[in-house]
Amino acid sequence: MASHSAATAQLRRKLGAAVHTGQDARWEASFDSSKLSFLPEAVIKPRRAADIGAVLVLANRHRVPVTVRGRGTTLTGAAVPLRGGWVIDLTGLRRVRIDAETGLAHVQAGATNAAVRTAAEAVGWFYPPDPSSEKYCTIGGNIACNAGGMHGGKYGVTRDYVIALKGFLPTGEWVEWGTATKKFSAGFNLRDLWIGSEGLLGIVTDAVLKLIPLPAARWTLLTSFADEVTALRAARELFASRVQPAICEFLDRYSVQCAESATGQSIFAGQAGRPVILLELAGSPSEVEEQKRELLSWAGRTATAFREAQDRAAAEQLWAVRRKCSGAMFELGDAKLNEDIAIPMRQYERFARFLDRLRRESGLPIPTFGHLADGNLHVNIMYHRAVPAECRAAEAAVGEAATAAGGPGLPRATGTAADGSASISTNACRQLSPTEAGSVWYCE
Ligand SMILES: Cc1cc2nc3c(=O)[nH]c(=O)nc-3n(C[C@H](O)[C@H](O)[C@H](O)COP(=O)(O)OP(=O)(O)OC[C@H]3O[C@@H](n4cnc5c(N)ncnc54)[C@H](O)[C@@H]3O)c2cc1C
Repeated sequence: MASHSAATAQLRRKLGAAVHTGQDARWEASFDSSKLSFLPEAVIKPRRAADIGAVLVLANRHRVPVTVRGRGTTLTGAAVPLRGGWVIDLTGLRRVRIDAETGLAHVQAGATNAAVRTAAEAVGWFYPPDPSSEKYCTIGGNIACNAGGMHGGKYGVTRDYVIALKGFLPTGEWVEWGTATKKFSAGFNLRDLWIGSEGLLGIVTDAVLKLIPLPAARWTLLTSFADEVTALRAARELFASRVQPAICEFLDRYSVQCAESATGQSIFAGQAGRPVILLELAGSPSEVEEQKRELLSWAGRTATAFREAQDRAAAEQLWAVRRKCSGAMFELGDAKLNEDIAIPMRQYERFARFLDRLRRESGLPIPTFGHLADGNLHVNIMYHRAVPAECRAAEAAVGEAATAAGGPGLPRATGTAADGSASISTNACRQLSPTEAGSVWYCE
């Protein structure tokens, strides 16, 4: 890897204490949740947006690769400085201002998702995109990954809430896409091109986000089913009846077991070994009341057991357990290949059977959970990195899932994520390829 010490020294003269070259700072910026690690030469923590432009101009002049970073929760390796160089860490720019009159949030890119939601809710507004990493991940990272979450089926994903963006092109040129108006129809829509571009097209420093009125009523129901196929068939029946839950989360029996043992909490007492669907209605009191009747009737017909959360605290406890699912899997293996798959609703039961076969043939645990309203399921192939046979089986299983994803009428992969180490899985490296160059810039 080329050294850029002269450029780094120049950068330090320009930005002073914002430039970190100590071992700890470099190590912390060397990895994301993919657990791949490449040391950068320096980490820049800008105190003002203008610092970013200065960094980029200098990086272009000296051909230093630059990687942009929010909180590093992406599972894809997109925030890893694969070619060394400089990392720009945006977490210091985290101002949030809610315009309660117009229902807009003016935020800096390093603000966490949860900070925006909390600030909005304090004045009666709601910011729906809620990746499970919400406490840590940044709005800039959410925009760059077009993050979704449990509310996605009813309310949509990050793209649906971005009104305007400000930031820098890779050359260091300042740009503004859109203004703080809800209508945006004149001219090229470069704002939307930036959303989901994983830092490839520019660095977001500021965003204007649309808020919606905070739902006045919420109601949470927990249901368990005889098996996964029955659960997924029941979910299809629910959507066909026009009930639109704000959240509809599926946890197969293996995910339930992991979440229970990781948190020490029982998800559904008396229903051990069964898959569950967690549902939440949100809206006006009358809307929720009407849908509640339909939901209870549906649960009575299809579920093995069901129980409503007695109050908001009980509901929050259920959602907290669900959010811990991803980390909880690691009791089944110290590495995972995590396929993020969107399945057409008509294929739900077929997909459950496909997973059963994959578990039998690979001999590996494959806990699966996710959002049924938009078909986005997280398939976690767990294995032990010290056991070569398991590494091979995991690679074959993830390959099969990817092949199946491309087949007619079968699940389609929307993205892949490696959550193990590159050294044990060549798939992990291959999966990185679409994003490898994503946030690394040269001026050739
Ligand atoms: C436990 C867990 C649960 C998760 N749940 C979900 C989920 O439910 N839904 C979901 O969609 N994702 C989920 N994720 C993935 C991840 O949290 C999201 O992709 C999140 O948006 C990343 O935000 P970040 O601040 O951590 O960005 P980082 O990981 O730091 O960066 C991600 C990408 O964005 C780029 N980037 C970051 N900031 C900027 C910026 N200001 N301007 C331009 N580019 C930038 C980086 O270069 C990189 O390419 C989860 C991850 C974990 C670990």
